[in-house]
Amino acid sequence: MRLMVYDVAIIGAGPGGYVAAIRGSQLGGRICVIEQEEVGGTCLQLGCIPTKALISSVELLRRMRDAEKFGLRIEGDIRPDIGAIFARKDQIVANLTQGIRLLFKANRVNLIKGQARVVSPGRILVRSAGDAPAQTIEAKSIIIATGSKPASIAGLELDGVSIISSDEAVKMQDVPGRLLIVGAGAIGCEFAFIFRQLGSEITMVELMPQVLPQEDAEIARVIERELKKERIKVFTGTRVESVREGDDQFPLLVRLSNGQEVGADKILVSIGRQPNTAELGLDKLGIQLGSHNEIVVNRYLETNIKGIYAIGDVIGGIMLAHVASAEGIVAVENALGGNREMDYRVVPAGIFTSPEIGRVGLTEQQARERGQDIKIGRFPLRALGRAQAMGELTGLIKIISDAETGEILGGHIVGPSATELIHEIALAMCSDISCEELAELIHIHPTLSEGLMEAAHDVYNRAINIPPPG
Ligand SMILES: Cc1cc2nc3c(=O)[nH]c(=O)nc-3n(C[C@H](O)[C@H](O)[C@H](O)COP(=O)(O)OP(=O)(O)OC[C@H]3O[C@@H](n4cnc5c(N)ncnc54)[C@H](O)[C@@H]3O)c2cc1C
Repeated sequence: MRLMVYDVAIIGAGPGGYVAAIRGSQLGGRICVIEQEEVGGTCLQLGCIPTKALISSVELLRRMRDAEKFGLRIEGDIRPDIGAIFARKDQIVANLTQGIRLLFKANRVNLIKGQARVVSPGRILVRSAGDAPAQTIEAKSIIIATGSKPASIAGLELDGVSIISSDEAVKMQDVPGRLLIVGAGAIGCEFAFIFRQLGSEITMVELMPQVLPQEDAEIARVIERELKKERIKVFTGTRVESVREGDDQFPLLVRLSNGQEVGADKILVSIGRQPNTAELGLDKLGIQLGSHNEIVVNRYLETNIKGIYAIGDVIGGIMLAHVASAEGIVAVENALGGNREMDYRVVPAGIFTSPEIGRVGLTEQQARERGQDIKIGRFPLRALGRAQAMGELTGLIKIISDAETGEILGGHIVGPSATELIHEIALAMCSDISCEELAELIHIHPTLSEGLMEAAHDVYNRAINIPPPG
């Protein structure tokens, strides 16, 4: 029997791989996806979706605890049922997993279960669990979309029980009394808000001088204040020096570089992620890797070996689900004969803290480092009628623009629905809509989006609903 030769074989069914597969099938390609775990990858099984399901529960809890401010009386305690919260999360993940499987069927994408290794360009060996014999897959092109895994550091080796990563945190139904979070990036901060609402005492340790080191400093300060309001202890500019076993009261004793010792039941290490490049056979193929073991690709997302592409977290860069998906579409189109360059000029990013953050383009610090002459417009959420009505007063909208041309260089929002609102600025940036034009667009009243119009006006010192400068 002659082996079927696929047009494209994709390794990994995360948001990079599964989106690439469906796009490839839309283009008429014969596509297979090889996945060793479950479709959806980190994003669906352990990352974006389960965390946001948990966040939805704790956000509702937070709002219910505020019910009296809205004139609502709730008799008795409002208490989280941890088992039910995690079961709801699992059900959402199961529904979406089933959804991807159905999409594969509907698009005639062949899903092959097993661990893949590339033996030569166009040839992949797939090993399944158990005694099943390995099978060889042939394809004209290969897309590697194997994602990433949690990074650890010396002295804080992950054991999955006491010292854990987000992989365990997202399944952890016994809420720890005291949780130490190492790394106050997006993942660390999201878990801090989740477990605080569920009752943990939280300490955060961050090496950099601010929480959320990639964010605009003014926006990150808002979140740092909120963390502190929640009575989460935050040590920035601080390192974990050592961890030792304690006693029954404090099972883990953590020595910090500021001389303090903190007791904890568990440590969540969230210091970043590392690309999954091991066991793929890349060294034998001579595929070029970067300094963090990420696969190096060109603007067409092709590796140094013709016909082998790579996308998503495994190529490093911006490790976000929607970036992986966008790369998946570009790579599969190229694998099927296209000639598209990946365009990273406008990439919005969201952090689902309480309140959320939406960001696109340059931070104020990045714009200043470039020596660019900039003007900044700001608008506080509390000056918006809608924010007052919602009882959500914490937040800020900030637009950074080129002083001479009015080009929008960056947008930063901290506040409710920030991850939705940011798309208006992203769209303006990709459509070359200037700050002046954004300000002129009539916005619905009363909405949070009015804050974008006001922040754009503020670039020219003519926001209506805040006092004039000086
Ligand atoms: C806690 C957490 C929260 C996050 N929240 C967000 C968020 O809100 N928004 C956002 O944009 N991003 C978020 N991310 C990041 C996001 O999950 C990743 O950027 C995204 O999953 C990357 O997609 P990918 O397709 O490159 O890889 P992955 O999703 O990691 O998928 C890779 C797949 O490849 C499979 N695989 C690996 N090696 C092999 C092999 N040899 N053979 C067969 N299969 C293999 C794996 O089993 C996996 O299923 C979060 C991440 C975490 C950990």
